[in-house]
Amino acid sequence: MEDLSFIPNLLNGPLDVYRDTSSFDWKRLKLALEGDIQLLRLKYKIWHTLENDPLFAHNIVTPPVEEQKRITQMQLQKINQYKFLTDEIFNAGYMKRTRTLMTINEAVQSLAPSVSVKMAIGIYLFSNAILSLGTERHRQFYEATIKDRKYVASFALTEIAHGSDAKLMRTTSTYDPKTKEFVIHTPDFEAAKCWVGNLGKILCDILFFALFFHSLEIISEVFAFFSLSSYNARNV
Ligand SMILES: Cc1cc2nc3c(=O)[nH]c(=O)nc-3n(C[C@H](O)[C@H](O)[C@H](O)COP(=O)(O)OP(=O)(O)OC[C@H]3O[C@@H](n4cnc5c(N)ncnc54)[C@H](O)[C@@H]3O)c2cc1C
Repeated sequence: MEDLSFIPNLLNGPLDVYRDTSSFDWKRLKLALEGDIQLLRLKYKIWHTLENDPLFAHNIVTPPVEEQKRITQMQLQKINQYKFLTDEIFNAGYMKRTRTLMTINEAVQSLAPSVSVKMAIGIYLFSNAILSLGTERHRQFYEATIKDRKYVASFALTEIAHGSDAKLMRTTSTYDPKTKEFVIHTPDFEAAKCWVGNLGKILCDILFFALFFHSLEIISEVFAFFSLSSYNARNV
């Protein structure tokens, strides 16, 4: 049987009398629900680390929104420094890596939900889109985002008049061969990008979705551009 002594015992209290009559070990149930002892260990490591970090202490008074955003950004940087995703897991293959990233996000979510959303959009959603839509030369940005935490991005897909169905998108990108530039055009308010998480304050990097035109002919239904602050977008 696995050693579950890393799971702290519950604090004593009025429920003890009922817990003592339990016919099963709640720690074993916890392990069964998590499904993997290494991941359960990782969750407790994260909780223990963040509980001991004053930056993650809960405020008794809710700070103003601007201050909440500042704290959330600092918390994200701190989580990046903790490197909960080890090099070993990063190199272990997509399934294991993704499951571990989800475990990290679940653990962070229960202590600091705002950071969890910031990570989910700015790191995981962004890097997975690069992996699935990009080519071999984009792989470096996946690694730089997931492993080195060099980029935190925005994800600009949703428009005012649609969300779930990306095919209804009406923002266009037209390639101009003379200037070798893409002209991004929002035809009207309904096609305006909205809900672009991370965009307001801290963001320099963005993944932007638009219909792709060349000489007024649709080339692909949805095209993803990404622009990274510390990288020349023309080379991407
Ligand atoms: C907190 C938050 C953060 C977000 N961050 C981002 C972000 O960073 N970047 C970004 O691009 N977007 C972001 N979004 C937008 C989010 O992805 C959209 O809200 C989502 O795609 C749903 O779109 P919608 O709100 O327009 O709803 P709609 O697409 O209008 O859907 C409304 C309802 O209709 C249902 N529905 C829609 N189409 C169908 C269909 N064909 N058949 C049956 N049912 C259907 C949906 O399930 C839903 O219940 C964010 C949203 C939230 C709430």
